[in-house]
Amino acid sequence: MSDPQEGECLVCYVGRMLDDHGCDGTLRWTHHFREIRSPTATGLEKRFPQPCDCGVLASRRLVRELMVRDVHTDELEAPTRLPTCSGVRRTSTHPCANWERPRGAGPRPTRAHGPRPAGGDR
Ligand SMILES: [Zn+2]
Ligand SMILES: [Zn+2]
Repeated sequence: MSDPQEGECLVCYVGRMLDDHGCDGTLRWTHHFREIRSPTATGLEKRFPQPCDCGVLASRRLVRELMVRDVHTDELEAPTRLPTCSGVRRTSTHPCANWERPRGAGPRPTRAHGPRPAGGDR
């Protein structure tokens, strides 16, 4: 098992793990990240559209500045290697500044129901 690096965010971590290990159809990397970094973040998986690690990446996309333009199709594409994580607070399960919500995809996220995880100050 590879652990998240200091300050690395969930999305960058899962992206890195999927690059190296692929998805096995579960949230194994998401769960591993949570165990290590934010064990109290129990509704984490509810945030993602698919019940596997791909859903974590599918729920976000790289900001434009980090995309590369395909010279043939003139479309922006994700780079083959993920850029270095911009970093988040130690216990945060939120994506870093490299990621944005895809525009117009899915319903607007609602505020999480239920108790806030302990230690969250935002
Ligand atoms: Zn998957
Ligand atoms: Zn990141």
